[in-house]
Amino acid sequence: MSELNTKLVIGNWKMHGCLARNAVLLNTLAHGTQQWSEALRIAVCVPFPYLAQTQELLHNSRIAWGVQDVSAHTEGAYTGEVSAAMAAEFGATFALVGHSERRAYHQENDPAVAAKTHRALEVGLTPVVCVGETRAERDAGRAEQTVSQQLQVVLDTLSVEQAMRLVIAYEPVWAIGTGRNAQAHEVRAMHAVLHRLLTAADDRLAHVPVLYGGSVKPDNARELFAEPGVEGGLIGGASLKAEDFLDICAAAD
Ligand code: PEP
Repeated sequence: MSELNTKLVIGNWKMHGCLARNAVLLNTLAHGTQQWSEALRIAVCVPFPYLAQTQELLHNSRIAWGVQDVSAHTEGAYTGEVSAAMAAEFGATFALVGHSERRAYHQENDPAVAAKTHRALEVGLTPVVCVGETRAERDAGRAEQTVSQQLQVVLDTLSVEQAMRLVIAYEPVWAIGTGRNAQAHEVRAMHAVLHRLLTAADDRLAHVPVLYGGSVKPDNARELFAEPGVEGGLIGGASLKAEDFLDICAAAD
């Protein structure tokens, strides 16, 4: 687990936003974090059409930005797809890959997530590899197995140098958008599993940050971020409200 005492908080806007509301949100975030130490890293992952706006409004701020998905392909006849290189052209730093909503609604399997991870790495983006079990998998006692396999399939395709550039997000599917975050002890246990898997692959992966995501709110962020092995959060709904997102970031500082 990361020995550096830095946390990373990433907002995932999902398919929300419009130019006018984004402008207010982004300007408020940029202004609200101006005086904060550089130790806390903050980013927002926005819908593709808003990358240019986000770049324009955040480029002088301490907040990075990214995308919520990238194509598994580099370039070509893939109508509707957006490549990692295109996102990078707009200054993106992060790319979520394998978010549970992509896995559930777009049939993304582990090899596809691995391919997307490679496309992101190739152009210098930091892939945020999302893993997490469903309620049924947890109830069946298969949470650790599911999550471990999701990460292992990706790790098996990467060199250690590539894997060192990952961020992992543990997001139990049953906690996403439900208002029911995982309990601190559940988060601690799964983060320990993920950190063990990383260091079993190579000691140098001890520094790969593992974020928690799933109904993080201002009133539970401090407790969740204080758990050992939790290096920050991936924040969905609450990242759309400037005040809530700033409070959550402050809880990580
Ligand atoms: C997410 O979309 O990654 C997420 C964690 O959503 P929420 O915070 O709304 O549960």
